[in-house]
Amino acid sequence: MTGSLGSIGRQWDQRIQRANELAARHPFAAEALRFYERIASFQKSLYENLAAGNGEAKKVRAPGSLRDELNLITLLPWFASFLAFVEDVAPPPLAQSAAELNAAGGMRWEEVLDEFWHSGEDAALTAPEALISWAFLQPYAEHLADHTERSEAEEETPSLCPLCSGSPQAGALRPLGDGAKRSLICSLCATEWEYRRIVCPACGEENVDKLPVYVAEELPHIRVEACDTCHHYIKTIDLTKDGRAVPVVDELAAIPLSLWAAEKGYEKLSSNLLGI
Ligand SMILES: [Zn+2]
Ligand SMILES: [Zn+2]
Repeated sequence: MTGSLGSIGRQWDQRIQRANELAARHPFAAEALRFYERIASFQKSLYENLAAGNGEAKKVRAPGSLRDELNLITLLPWFASFLAFVEDVAPPPLAQSAAELNAAGGMRWEEVLDEFWHSGEDAALTAPEALISWAFLQPYAEHLADHTERSEAEEETPSLCPLCSGSPQAGALRPLGDGAKRSLICSLCATEWEYRRIVCPACGEENVDKLPVYVAEELPHIRVEACDTCHHYIKTIDLTKDGRAVPVVDELAAIPLSLWAAEKGYEKLSSNLLGI
């Protein structure tokens, strides 16, 4: 395939396909992954539609400034469809929140999307409202990120996304020479950036004795990287052990690890579509 027209939105196909594979392999995550597949299909349509209107042009944006713009005129009609869709396919608490938002109308949608876009996880919204806003705005943010020229002035090891200041959804260990390098993946715009291996992305702790790593036998390519100083954790997907993994999807599928970490008193840095 030549040019990039054929590859627009290819990452969505990879995610959906991986969710499908993992659902067959892990019965404990099948229902969650089927739900994810449906949400990701909607996200893919939104992303493709935005990308089709944009072409190849990349914009220069200052580091951390991605959220300075929010094109509500384009997004609101899609949000109406998304709410109806979530009402249809989501588990009860989300479906009910979508129904309430749907009934509240366009002015409220603007408020909710604006609030989430600018405040992220600190937004003054209910948990289901924040989850719906995140799932909806994620492909929009990813589209902006994919059409942004990465700045050379980026900090060396920022703990937040260098484009949108979002917090990391998951980590990735990718092969480098004989070893691996770690990167973090933004929960909002899906940008991936390099991050030192022995440092907590939540509080900056660098003492290896305070940074325990847990791996479960059944999921050998997923590391729970915890911090005993701030009690946060992140899941890092080791692509040197499973090169087919798609970090955000494998992270979502590793439900037992989230439950286990919560039992141990660790809080996840960014919750996922399941709210965990
Ligand atoms: Zn980001
Ligand atoms: Zn920490």
